[in-house]
Amino acid sequence: MKETVNILGTPYTIKEDDLNNPILSDADGICKMYDKEIILRKEEYLAGNTEQGRRYRREHVIRHELVHAFAEESGHNYVINEELTDWIAAMIPKINEAFNRIIE
Ligand SMILES: [Zn+2]
Repeated sequence: MKETVNILGTPYTIKEDDLNNPILSDADGICKMYDKEIILRKEEYLAGNTEQGRRYRREHVIRHELVHAFAEESGHNYVINEELTDWIAAMIPKINEAFNRIIE
């Protein structure tokens, strides 16, 4: 896993942590916009009965936190809209799939 990611020209630090981090007590990930940091719960601590289920959850959480970061860095005010953020995070792979079918 990379430790930084470029969000519209701003470097964000990516960290993973376990259940002992209180900031992850009720979330699997968080985007700390003011600190330019994304903290993710380690995959082994995510809900899911299978490795595939936990990986799917992890990828969704990463996309969700990236949507927050991109919204923040582009100045959009839906940065705090959890429902919209989650919908975009879920749609990104589906949009990519549709895009790739068109491009092929
Ligand atoms: Zn969120």
